[in-house]
Amino acid sequence: RRGWRRLVRVLEELEEGCATPVGRLRQVVDAMAVEMHAGLASEGGSKLKMLLTYVHNLPTGMEKGIYYALDLGGTNFRVLRVNLGGQRSTILDHDVERQPIPQHLMTSTIEELFDFIATKLKDFVGREENVSGISAEETRELGFTFSFPVKQNSSSSGTLIKWTKGFSIQDMVGRDVSQCLQEAMSRKGLNMQVASLVNDTVGTLALGHYHDQDTVASVIFGTGTNACYLERADAIIKCQGLLSTSGGMVVNMEWGNFWSSHLPRTSYDADLDCESPNPNDQGFEKMISGMYLGDIVRRVVLRMSQESDVFGPVSSKLLVPFILRTPMIATMHEDDSPNLMEVARILRDTLQIPDVPLNVRKLVVKVCDVVTRRAARLAAAGIVGILKKIGRDGNGGTASCKAKGGGQSKMRRTVVAVEGGLYTNYTMFREYLNEAMGEILGEDVAEHVIIRVMDDGSGIGAALLAASHSASL
Ligand code: ADP
Repeated sequence: RRGWRRLVRVLEELEEGCATPVGRLRQVVDAMAVEMHAGLASEGGSKLKMLLTYVHNLPTGMEKGIYYALDLGGTNFRVLRVNLGGQRSTILDHDVERQPIPQHLMTSTIEELFDFIATKLKDFVGREENVSGISAEETRELGFTFSFPVKQNSSSSGTLIKWTKGFSIQDMVGRDVSQCLQEAMSRKGLNMQVASLVNDTVGTLALGHYHDQDTVASVIFGTGTNACYLERADAIIKCQGLLSTSGGMVVNMEWGNFWSSHLPRTSYDADLDCESPNPNDQGFEKMISGMYLGDIVRRVVLRMSQESDVFGPVSSKLLVPFILRTPMIATMHEDDSPNLMEVARILRDTLQIPDVPLNVRKLVVKVCDVVTRRAARLAAAGIVGILKKIGRDGNGGTASCKAKGGGQSKMRRTVVAVEGGLYTNYTMFREYLNEAMGEILGEDVAEHVIIRVMDDGSGIGAALLAASHSASL
């Protein structure tokens, strides 16, 4: 079969286009910190929205009692019940129930969607309280995780800016999200109060902080990607009038929309963006998150197949957007069978390309590696960008303290909470991310930066915020 050299050339071009030497990563770090400043300075000052959350205090670990949470942000929603013991790290128990959202409800009416959710919540409460026996008279407190862009009016209310992820109920845009749920709950006779409204990053940060007070930021790597962090209130220039007494506020960055000329962009990225329903939007997310990595790989394999005949005739499946999903590229990437049998299976079953020789299968694995490595390293640069903004990158910012006597800056222990299937399930993504953190920060600083996975953080965290909110009233 002809075309091996061209194939190798496509791979080499991809490697060059996706190169992330540490110097370039540091440029991305700086760009992230600069954009954060700009987004905090004025409304619309940056592609980073830097949304206010009105969350001034994060859970301390002293929260007590039973709280509920509802987590709505994608194809599934979850209801949770959390029993807090009042001592850190003793979430006495929590119960989770996952439910798929029926497709037709995503585009129906506000009432239909929220009545469905309120009914499921009421069923869950009924079952839980049969077991545990809580007085039906008491008002239950709910944390609501709603992972769509929201303009918050307070820590427990806010209006929907726009739908994403396949949801589209037009008259909901501009409406108060908590009120929609509150009304549905009262229609269904459920005595429950929305005590906090957060997005998934803020929930994850709250759970991180509950377990460990050194937690300053949180990042989601799932279908999409986003981050939030604890900012000094006086640094949020765009809302000088709203300064809090505690001196801090959590800021939801909406970092999926970050962009910088330093990001290593290829023609595959440009094509993916052009053909997406939201061109010029979510540029960082399109290079990093689970929704897109598989499709970047598909585009490279398509090019390879067009450039040479080692794959046989071009499979029509290769032309189908999103047919190659990110868990599949993880499976191929991590295929440790001697003959790359998993790679052969996915090429055959999903892409209908049979009989791909071993040396070509190895090239496909290499493509997965290049795409995922770039994603993980850019994600690491994003995290370090946040640390730099808040002076936790070891460069003697305001938050690092001078070691006694020595005069040298001593790095404070810093924890970043992480959640999402891409990070937790894709080992190579996780390893590349952690490796890049070390490269960018230097090992002696990196050893003070801990990335900690928060399972169910987005939901449990909302319940914790409902608890700390109730406690401070
Ligand atoms: P979501 O972000 O949709 O709320 P998750 O945090 O569970 O939910 O993330 C799911 C996403 O994680 C999937 O869309 C997929 O892109 C990615 N993912 C899940 N499992 C794997 C895996 N084994 N390997 C790579 N990516 C995965």
